[in-house]
Amino acid sequence: MWRIFTGHFTLGASLSGHGLRGVRCPHCASYDENMRHVFWTCSFTQRWWSRLFLFPIWDMRPSKIGNTFFLLGSRDKVLDWVRKRCLSLLLWNIWMFRNKKLFQNKGYVLSYSWTLCKLILHREIDVITDEDRTTFASFLETI
Ligand SMILES: [Zn+2]
Repeated sequence: MWRIFTGHFTLGASLSGHGLRGVRCPHCASYDENMRHVFWTCSFTQRWWSRLFLFPIWDMRPSKIGNTFFLLGSRDKVLDWVRKRCLSLLLWNIWMFRNKKLFQNKGYVLSYSWTLCKLILHREIDVITDEDRTTFASFLETI
């Protein structure tokens, strides 16, 4: 996620800025690829964001893309952690799918879903302290 905020990605649009031939979005091929397009505005990506906001962890949807990160900060430590992890997993998944398509990688990228996120979250809470594990596990059981 840090790389997204700081712009440390080699995308088509940044290559064009350096005089190199731009790369089109591997999903829709309609725009010069940039971070905003890849992670938020591409129609392919938008479907995944729609999936994320169907997860039973949100009480609202952002009205604009720029508001996405304002959804974190509910004052509930467990809920915020689940939201942040689901968001990170979505961004990671988008990036992996983009690379798979662009570079024709043979690797398999799991389809992003609430079931996948819950599975990964269950695995992650296995390595936290006993006290937190109980709180996090019971939260995941209720949603
Ligand atoms: Zn696109």
